[in-house]
Amino acid sequence: GQVAFITGGGSGIGFRIAEIFMRHGCRTVIASRNLQRVSEASKKLVAATGQQCLPLSVDVRQPQTIVAAVDEALKEFKRIDILVNGAAGNFLCPASTLSFNAFKTVIDIDTIGTFNTSKVLFEKYFRDHGGVIVNITATLSYRGHALQVHAGTAKAAIDAMTRHLAVEWGPNNIRVNSLAPGPITGTEGYRRLGGKFAEEASHFAMIPLQRAGNKTEIAHSTLYLASPLSSYVTGTTLVVDGGSWLTSANNFSALLGIASSSAK
Ligand code: NAP
Repeated sequence: GQVAFITGGGSGIGFRIAEIFMRHGCRTVIASRNLQRVSEASKKLVAATGQQCLPLSVDVRQPQTIVAAVDEALKEFKRIDILVNGAAGNFLCPASTLSFNAFKTVIDIDTIGTFNTSKVLFEKYFRDHGGVIVNITATLSYRGHALQVHAGTAKAAIDAMTRHLAVEWGPNNIRVNSLAPGPITGTEGYRRLGGKFAEEASHFAMIPLQRAGNKTEIAHSTLYLASPLSSYVTGTTLVVDGGSWLTSANNFSALLGIASSSAK
């Protein structure tokens, strides 16, 4: 009976989060830039789950588009209980060749986009009704992952934002947590960031659980953070990576090979 607003809900991990939430009786709003993408995703989600799903166009870098989408969602559902900040952009690139603009764009989408969306939800609904925010981050900064200074920095800033907002908004009955996935199969991130290569080179044998994760595992962990099962959990980051960041090494030459082949 709750309503979740999921940015990046039209594809990959965000789509699976929407699906699993809907299978647990939640109605969803899925929002990203490409309206056609979210509209088609919404049809699939409704057909698979029998729940309502409202697709909306949003660019998380532009607060006015978020305001319009949240107004539309509140008109339709009269409430929003959960925000999942999943929208992000990423690619492999050495810091030395990363343009100033490329670095800024990733910070704009991931970090500033997460702040913009959280703030709009706070002002429009959560301040007076409470709510739950789950920010999808990453483990990249834990070990200074090569070729990922842009995304690692952006996601580390979101983990910091999670703690700040958890402290400030706790008295309003708002819980704020991050979820940091490891390598997740069947996603754009996996395709772009060398998942297939790591698989073929048996790099996943280094992961304590000996494999990459899947989208459903991320969605179930997000469900935990969004549900009353985690009612006393706020300001934390749940790492869902099979123990990966504890053991995985940076392989510079392999990553550079993947970066140059995906740029072609
Ligand atoms: P994905 O399918 O590419 O998801 C990213 C989504 O963000 C897309 O639906 C995209 O839709 C949306 N988006 C991008 N820019 C946007 C903007 N300016 N405004 C609104 N929406 C925007 O990738 P994914 O691999 O499933 O990743 C999902 C999340 O998990 C991301 O936060 C990612 O960093 C995180 N993550 C993934 C992995 C992994 O292995 N895949 C690992 C760690 C963390 P539009 O193009 O329509 O805007």
